[in-house]
Amino acid sequence: MIAFERLTVAYPGGTTAVDDVTLAIAPGSFVALVGRSGSGKSTLLKTVKRLISPTAGRVLVDGRPVDAEPAPLLRRRIGYVFQGIGLFPHMTVAENIAVPLRLDGRVDPERVAALLDLVDLPQEVATRRPDALSGGQRQRVGVARALATEAKLLLMDEPFGALDPMTRDALGQAVRTLHDRLGLTTLMVTHDMAEALLLATRVLVMAKGRIVADTTPAAL
Ligand code: ATP
Ligand code: MG
Repeated sequence: MIAFERLTVAYPGGTTAVDDVTLAIAPGSFVALVGRSGSGKSTLLKTVKRLISPTAGRVLVDGRPVDAEPAPLLRRRIGYVFQGIGLFPHMTVAENIAVPLRLDGRVDPERVAALLDLVDLPQEVATRRPDALSGGQRQRVGVARALATEAKLLLMDEPFGALDPMTRDALGQAVRTLHDRLGLTTLMVTHDMAEALLLATRVLVMAKGRIVADTTPAAL
């Protein structure tokens, strides 16, 4: 469950990236957030994980304001796939996946193996560096890392951005299957309305910092 209450985010310099957004995201839903470049999608996502502080209003996760607990505790409950994935090039795949687990000092090879299985990656990639993977495999590593802490809330920012259409479809379906199987609440930013309609249970359209449409694929 995520709730945005009259949320406004203005960056220093004057851009109002998010403009008075009120929105509730129900547990178990798969929400796609679409909109043009610069409409505020990434900014909205980042406030959930407290990577950005709002100028006004607040964000609640599971009914609690995100600033009510220490940020590391909040962040463990939220899986996040960054725009551009952001794998560390000097680390192996296994080390990349274990980054969120290291916060409390645990790197469990069995857990890494289970996460590779979960996202359908062969175990051999564990010891490789990200630059020795295909683009689609890298995105899968990003998803595995997001799920490393057994977070029930998954935020994805253009997770399939740079992929060819077939790989994109396959990965999208894989993530939707994971979402259903793990009972996740998922908020995914995408430029691609067709992808949003295919994968999501609810589609939000953002323009100039506001939610300008809120619909379900079934309604269209
Ligand atoms: P894209 O689809 O290109 O990723 P977006 O919808 O994710 O775009 P945001 O990254 O949220 O858009 O940016 C919203 C607005 O805020 C834009 O006008 C952008 O230039 C501005 N902005 C984003 N990050 C910063 C920052 N760190 N400092 C100042 N302005 C910023
Ligand atoms: Mg963005």
